[in-house]
Amino acid sequence: GRDVKSFLKRNWILIATIASVLLGISLGLLVREYASLSQLEKQYFGFPGEILMRMLKLVILPLIISSMITGVAALDSEVSGRIGLRAVIYYFSTTIIAVILGIVLVTTIKPGVSQTADSIDRAGTTPNVTTVDTLLDLYKSQRKEIETPMGNASRNAVTITFPPFTTVMATIAQNLTKDYTLVGTYSDGINVLGLIVFCVAFGLVIGKMGERGRILLEFFDALNEATMRLVQIIMCYMPLGILFLIAAKIIEVEDWDIFRKMGLYMATVLSGLAIHAIVFLPLIYLALVRKNPYTFALGMAQALVTALMISSSSATLPVTFRCAEENNRIDKRITRFVLPVGATINMDGTALYEAVAAIFIAQLNGLDLDVGKIVTISITATVASIGAAGVPNAGLVTMVIVLTAVGLPASDVTLIVAVDWLIDRFRTMINVLGDAYGAGIVQKLSKRELERMDITSDVDVANP
Ligand code: ASP
Repeated sequence: GRDVKSFLKRNWILIATIASVLLGISLGLLVREYASLSQLEKQYFGFPGEILMRMLKLVILPLIISSMITGVAALDSEVSGRIGLRAVIYYFSTTIIAVILGIVLVTTIKPGVSQTADSIDRAGTTPNVTTVDTLLDLYKSQRKEIETPMGNASRNAVTITFPPFTTVMATIAQNLTKDYTLVGTYSDGINVLGLIVFCVAFGLVIGKMGERGRILLEFFDALNEATMRLVQIIMCYMPLGILFLIAAKIIEVEDWDIFRKMGLYMATVLSGLAIHAIVFLPLIYLALVRKNPYTFALGMAQALVTALMISSSSATLPVTFRCAEENNRIDKRITRFVLPVGATINMDGTALYEAVAAIFIAQLNGLDLDVGKIVTISITATVASIGAAGVPNAGLVTMVIVLTAVGLPASDVTLIVAVDWLIDRFRTMINVLGDAYGAGIVQKLSKRELERMDITSDVDVANP
């Protein structure tokens, strides 16, 4: 009895969140079935979810500033350099593994290759109707959306689509609170990459400033603690917000039939994501850390559900921090460093998706892919995942890089737009899981440096 009680007490937010996902789906389906809401009423319905999103986005700025600056300043530059290098090696190798997995699956399953006349005959349709035709119809019907392939999400997403130039520009933010887009206007998202670069520079300077630097370090450390307390309060609201977020989404979806048409493509992406999350990442973690990877993943559950519901690694970051530090006991000196950077550049799920989607579109176009083209796709898919911001549908936008690299028309992303709201959730979840495992692995690999620092430093800012 006591055990159950303490379990419930410790995990009530997670339990309530999962319950609210199920409730939200049922509520959405019910309202769809029995009520026809006006546009305005639909907006009211989405209101509680919108509040959650706004609150999560609100804490990103103080969270990243306080965690990155203290993360960098508390370590000496040699140690932070080594930790950074380990993180980058991890990010890169797992992303490549995800891309290769995606390519193997999509070239085996071949979701975009036309069915044979034979099987179509048997299905009783005209022999000439192929998947391509069905999708081309779809393409035409959705042409309107070309200008705004991200629909609603475009408000928050980075419109930068042509790295490396724009990515380099974005790393040097001219306004820390705003996102700089290709055309030189601001969107209302935060330029996380630019923010991180600034904080690393600022943290390095503070670390070298002696006594006065220490005052700043303590200030930012306190800011971090205060922000995390806010996060704790926001998380109490989370179940309610998520309930309406998912219900509103279900009410809003217009075309369900699209899932049937795109079934094989979606199955390819989703099975790839599942294999990466259930087999590859855990194996890597097990090999390097020698602890149960699934216990670790379970500790991240709240962050994973959040990512699944809000499709944004950046907005999930506050929850990722909490799970990593509280449940999985990862050293703050590691999380502060590895998680914000990971949320921005380490996207295994996105990379896998980019590779699968590009080859799927090539298959639809009847394009033969030689080894050269496959290699090009792997490289550009990796670049596109690094370039994608941690906001909803960002990966769909950076798809353009991959498509143009192999000579496919950029407008072909329209073929996959309609299902992106669903796939985005799952790849975001895998992106967040990859960041978390990364933090666990880098902590293990950096154990010696961390222990040495524990002995030498008199004030332990990272773990007061
Ligand atoms: N939504 C994803 C994320 O935030 C990025 C993507 O669209 O692939 O991680």
